[in-house]
Amino acid sequence: MWQLISNDLSNERLLLEESLFTIGNGYIGMRGCFEEAPNRLSNTIRGTYINGLYDNVPIMYGESAYGFPTIQDKQPRIMDTQTSLIYLDGEQVIIDPARIKDYYRVLDLKKGLMERGYRYITGSGQEAKLVFRRMASFAHQNLLCFDIEIQFEGEIQIVSILDADVSNHSDANDPRVASGHEKLLKLKELDAKENLAFCEMETMSTKIPILSVIEYKAVSNTCSNCSLEHSLEENRVCTKATAQNNIRLQKKCYFADGIRSKHLYEDIAALSSKYIHDSFDELLNAQEQYLSSFWENSDIKILGSEKIQEAVRFQLFQLLQSVGRDEISNISAKGLSGEGYEGHYFWDTEIYVLPLFQMTQPELAKQLLLYRCHILPYAKQRAKEMGHKKGAAYPWRTISGIECSSYFPAGTAQYHINADIAYGFIQHYLYHQDEEFMLEKAAEVIYETARIWLEIGHWHNGAYLIDCVTGPDEYTAIVNNNFYTNAMAKYHLYWAYKLYKNLMEYNKAGFEALCQRIGLTFEEVEEMRLASEAMFLPFDHELGIHAQDDGFLKKAVWDFENTPEDKYPLLLHFHPLTIYRYQVLKQADTVLAHFLLEDYADMETISKSFNYYEKITTHDSSLSSCIYGIMASRCGYIKKAYEYFMESVRLDLDDKHGNTKDGLHMASLAGSCLAIINGFAGYRIKENGISIAPIVPKELQGYHFRIHYLGSWIDVEVNEVVKVKLLRGNPFSIKVYETEYFVENSIEIERKQA
Ligand code: BGC
Repeated sequence: MWQLISNDLSNERLLLEESLFTIGNGYIGMRGCFEEAPNRLSNTIRGTYINGLYDNVPIMYGESAYGFPTIQDKQPRIMDTQTSLIYLDGEQVIIDPARIKDYYRVLDLKKGLMERGYRYITGSGQEAKLVFRRMASFAHQNLLCFDIEIQFEGEIQIVSILDADVSNHSDANDPRVASGHEKLLKLKELDAKENLAFCEMETMSTKIPILSVIEYKAVSNTCSNCSLEHSLEENRVCTKATAQNNIRLQKKCYFADGIRSKHLYEDIAALSSKYIHDSFDELLNAQEQYLSSFWENSDIKILGSEKIQEAVRFQLFQLLQSVGRDEISNISAKGLSGEGYEGHYFWDTEIYVLPLFQMTQPELAKQLLLYRCHILPYAKQRAKEMGHKKGAAYPWRTISGIECSSYFPAGTAQYHINADIAYGFIQHYLYHQDEEFMLEKAAEVIYETARIWLEIGHWHNGAYLIDCVTGPDEYTAIVNNNFYTNAMAKYHLYWAYKLYKNLMEYNKAGFEALCQRIGLTFEEVEEMRLASEAMFLPFDHELGIHAQDDGFLKKAVWDFENTPEDKYPLLLHFHPLTIYRYQVLKQADTVLAHFLLEDYADMETISKSFNYYEKITTHDSSLSSCIYGIMASRCGYIKKAYEYFMESVRLDLDDKHGNTKDGLHMASLAGSCLAIINGFAGYRIKENGISIAPIVPKELQGYHFRIHYLGSWIDVEVNEVVKVKLLRGNPFSIKVYETEYFVENSIEIERKQA
């Protein structure tokens, strides 16, 4: 249950498995391609990526308009260090199932290692044993290592290639994948000496240098330090190691980039001398230690299903591998596992991934927020471009901070991202009561983003309205009073006011200095309070639900009955206007608002809303099922809660959306973990504390997780009973099924039967 295992060598699964078997450490990520067979499939996505690295490419519009972004960021595929061709008595190893026996591949979630191996039968019938191992070091983020071991009675030759001939993947027929501009890097320098091969490249337009150095060590029973032969070719350095009977080739690949460093060669030289004596196995020990402390806090145990357990741990591990560790990077929609959505960061971070890290990895969570602080100047600039007098309009999708969305109805119009980001900072406050961080970092983001509601909203008959926005559901665009947006803005503005009072109390001089710097007055904050209180939340009295927006419930309902399965996802088969004309959802919208802000509606409304919107939601976005799962739990629909959870928990493992080849769906990976903690366990964090209300679907026996709250570490175990234990820190209060408990050691309560 700590390993993802595959014995499948078929071409059909190749691209999918490249994504599933990605290794990464938040800085560098590499898809699970085959070392020995670079061109096994002509369309392999043989990618390695650096988090936060970007090039700029022009956005071409047939008809442009004022304020449309003219360039966008793209995450480049960087130089390839994966390739190691293998020759046995001169015969090249190829991936031919007839030649390969006992093939396996394992992603080890405890060791942080990907291992692949098989027995190979050569043309003359001789047998060889090959094992490939690789890891992206968690302890040393610039380092990724390979270890190749071969046994064969004869001559073995490995030709390792450091390849600068790289271009990005593109698909003109799928809007979720980039099209055009494949070549994003150019070669600056290639070199090799002693046991080192160098490759320096530079992004085409942003001119960011990237350096990769491979340090080789080859050993064998016949040569304790086998000699290496380098040859420099036009776009690559080939390094040949030869031995008899057995060989072990270790490749330490160092990466550095010009965003984070000014002295790439010096930095890598320093790193390499630091780790020069560390063997692959020693680095693996450090890897295991790092992971053991990660799992200690972040594991979610599933009682009663090994299959689900495997999937949940896989998700947690992949999230850890993809999440940025500094303010320059974040977590992109596909993490570091592919090129879908061009490596862009979306609201997926704050609403799906951040909440999970906030529960158990406060340091990583904080980094995600710091990234938003880092790009605040771009968001302010964007607000100006959008014609706003004040404030910050965060980009719908970006890497460097600029708005990269070229289709504004489902991009820039999603102003809710401002409130989503503020929500992330407010959650941080609820978890830590960390006024210092609020004052130093969060407040500016919260106020600058809040200002946008005053810019785009207006008063009408005593109500505060927000027109012309798009909510999370991208099958409905440019609407007035999207419930999700208005509710999130209401909360955001409420907190803007509340924080004003709190921070004045905490550090008057410090806060006044901030207000002065950003020109914030009490009058403006008062305006925020009034807008929050009067925020219009559309409600349909006949149906007893919140309307998704002013016009939504008046539209015709999509003809689901006559839409065959192969017409989904709708976005690939219908013009957007056709879709916009109907009541049909791509993903949770109002239902998501009821999760994030459950006190804005009563339970009856929430249930009715779930019943209504569920019928018209396609879940064409992978961000949907997990939220429906959480809210099905909330409504007491346990069977459904389990079904939605199952849909999202194996979304990538079973390639349910058919596009996992372009990368794993980070929001869904996190969302299905939330479907356990916020869904089954009913965990909530609010101003008045934390609470749980656990249920257990009949297919499971229970589950077990930890959370961190106000400095205390809490263990929650749910099976026939609910046990809540204080692991470290101060005693705390928690509400379990509406009763408040003060936990000094542990409490045990009978679990409510569903
Ligand atoms: C969803 C967005 C999401 C994006 C990236 C789209 O399909 O509709 O909500 O942010 O994917 O994951």
